[in-house]
Amino acid sequence: AHEELRQKEKLALIGQMAAAIGHEIRNPLASLKGFAQLQHERYPEQSDYYPIIIQEIDRIDIIVNDLMFIGKPKGIHIEQTNMKDIIEYTISIMRQQANAQNIHIESSYTEDLPLIECDEKHLKQVFINLLKNAIEAMPDGGTIKINVQYIEESEIIVSIEDEGCGIKSEDIPNLTVPFYTTKKSGTGLGLVVTNQIIKEHNGDINMESESGKGTKVTVTLPVWQKL
Ligand code: ADP
Ligand code: MG
Repeated sequence: AHEELRQKEKLALIGQMAAAIGHEIRNPLASLKGFAQLQHERYPEQSDYYPIIIQEIDRIDIIVNDLMFIGKPKGIHIEQTNMKDIIEYTISIMRQQANAQNIHIESSYTEDLPLIECDEKHLKQVFINLLKNAIEAMPDGGTIKINVQYIEESEIIVSIEDEGCGIKSEDIPNLTVPFYTTKKSGTGLGLVVTNQIIKEHNGDINMESESGKGTKVTVTLPVWQKL
């Protein structure tokens, strides 16, 4: 319990610092990215390095973004949103990385999907984090299946199933420990943020995984938020 408290204090402090400097970092970053893209379009023949520059800028942005979310239980902005739009947006954001790794993303939706009360921006973050993990688990390509289902009058269930490296059962408890990562350049913050946002929505997340076979992440979200 003592350790848990220390962990919470640590996160709160990180959250405060990150919030304070986050904006200051992101604005110049956005202009750097803009000019790199411009330069890339202007001189496509000598542009080998621009995609890398842009990609690395995106990476900094992700880290800053994750840090800004953490330890900062800020008010969420609830709107009625279409879950299909959120998922399709997420896929469009990750498509380039998926294509580069020969990954095919299949999405399916039940026809009767209602609007869901949620913070759209936060939920996009959730599904970007989850889809990114799925893609990163599949360096040799394969298929990722995303399914969105409606349980009549109560909840929407989103599952993301990959054919990646999987997670050893003894590692599962570590997944929500801040900074726990098995990747060379991971932050270990994605699932921490993801969990926090899902909790904000009174939802649930479940991970089933088999080492070497793949992982299935299931997110359950209530359609209505008690305000
Ligand atoms: P990061 O992606 O920066 O490592 P995350 O919090 O997103 O941080 O994930 C923590 C760890 O959980 C990852 O390093 C990885 O070991 C494991 N993990 C998460 N999702 C998957 C997945 N779909 N397949 C395999 N391992 C996963
Ligand atoms: Mg991640």
